[in-house]
Amino acid sequence: MNELANEPLLLNPDVVVVGAGIAGVAAARQLMMQGVSVLVLEARDRIGGRAYTENETFGVPYDHGCAWLHSADVNPLSALIKDSPGFDIFDHGALETQFYCSGRKASPEEYASAEKSEDALYDDLWAYDAEAGGDISIHDLRTPKNEWDLLAHLRKGEFEAGQQTKDLSVIDYQTQHESGTEWLVPQGLAAGIFKALGEVPVKLNTSVNKINWGGKAVIIETDQGNINCKAVVITVPTEIIADETLKFEPRLPAEKVEAFSQLPMGVLDKITLQFKDEFNSLLSDLHTTTAYIRDHCDEGDVGSGTWRDHLIRPFGQALDTMFVGGQFARDLTAEKDADRLAFELALNSLSDVFGADVKKLFVKGHFTKWHADPWARGGYAYSNIGHNHKRETARLPVEGRVFFAGEALHGKWASMAPGAYLTGRQAAEEVQSSLDLPTS
Ligand SMILES: Cc1cc2nc3c(=O)[nH]c(=O)nc-3n(C[C@H](O)[C@H](O)[C@H](O)COP(=O)(O)OP(=O)(O)OC[C@H]3O[C@@H](n4cnc5c(N)ncnc54)[C@H](O)[C@@H]3O)c2cc1C
Repeated sequence: MNELANEPLLLNPDVVVVGAGIAGVAAARQLMMQGVSVLVLEARDRIGGRAYTENETFGVPYDHGCAWLHSADVNPLSALIKDSPGFDIFDHGALETQFYCSGRKASPEEYASAEKSEDALYDDLWAYDAEAGGDISIHDLRTPKNEWDLLAHLRKGEFEAGQQTKDLSVIDYQTQHESGTEWLVPQGLAAGIFKALGEVPVKLNTSVNKINWGGKAVIIETDQGNINCKAVVITVPTEIIADETLKFEPRLPAEKVEAFSQLPMGVLDKITLQFKDEFNSLLSDLHTTTAYIRDHCDEGDVGSGTWRDHLIRPFGQALDTMFVGGQFARDLTAEKDADRLAFELALNSLSDVFGADVKKLFVKGHFTKWHADPWARGGYAYSNIGHNHKRETARLPVEGRVFFAGEALHGKWASMAPGAYLTGRQAAEEVQSSLDLPTS
């Protein structure tokens, strides 16, 4: 990245992009390719936003946010990663999911029950005629009746969308892609995406407070001073606009702010544990496996106990990531001793089925706590029931000079990295045609 650490903010480029996540970098890169002068302003001390690979915590690439190329056979980012030297893809979707309950591996009958519940929910989701019945919640579409139904709901809800299915819209689900092809990137998905996107000029540690867009120039007010430009592309998470942390003068049209507030942030977090090498022999038959573990399974019981979602031994490494989502993740993040509690929770879940020795092999852990991050506010946005169309309302430019991009504003790839990438590129194209900026 062309970081402009010590430069003053007097560059006055044609376009300012707010936020150096995937959407912001994709937009800036596209504009640069067309010969437009552009500057990205980023509040954090790093680029990436919710797409972030680092090697320091565990000594191996660790993605704090996005890690999977979902629906990889049709995902627009797949080609970027495949063409990026030094980055491999790992076909995770082809591997069998494991289920454990009451301290043991699920029986063949229980596996069949898991599959039946998952298929039934999936079939109902696609069969539902929203034009006739209107939008409803995924929960109301098919109320869970046993622990396998509960797992199917958690998979669609907290573990995938970062929000319980009571709050998730069937129409929003029907709008999105899900082909079943799931790839992981051992060297880090975020690292691969930013390498493929290429360099853009970024000013880090610069938070944007206000956009003055009513005058001749658009004036961007930051904690490092003001900057003038012809157009601005805003890529910040939805809640930062909805609660007006980022201010606009004049204020944005009311329907625009309302659209952002109908796209609240769900919460998905990773609790990743590193173990001594002996962990590998303890779990030698489990390699890059998704495992769902429930403390106890009693037929018909949905009220007590819960399922835990683990990615065990990614790429054969002595690591485990347990995912927590929704209100549970918010509450855990708010605890005074959140890290210790999170590690204990994940260790207890693993030791329930793999034995107490797992605890002795624990080296260190990391809990992402995205909800507490003021520049993220959570994992990704879901649409309130009946408001799926607000993704497009939020995306539309205002007066041909204020443009918007980000994962929440795409229909088919909402919440995912490709949604950020595609809306970033779309905003860049719209900026260019709206301002009649030079093309090379
Ligand atoms: C735990 C987790 C797991 C995920 N897993 C996957 C996955 O497997 N596959 C997938 O496709 N997607 C996944 N995602 C979603 C994916 O990471 C996001 O969709 C994507 O990274 C969002 O990119 P963005 O550019 O829209 O937003 P962001 O990455 O949030 O970028 C916005 C940027 O704006 C900056 N900013 C905010 N406010 C200001 C301000 N006032 N001034 C200046 N800068 C500001 C922020 O610091 C940030 O860098 C996951 C996300 C999480 C959290």
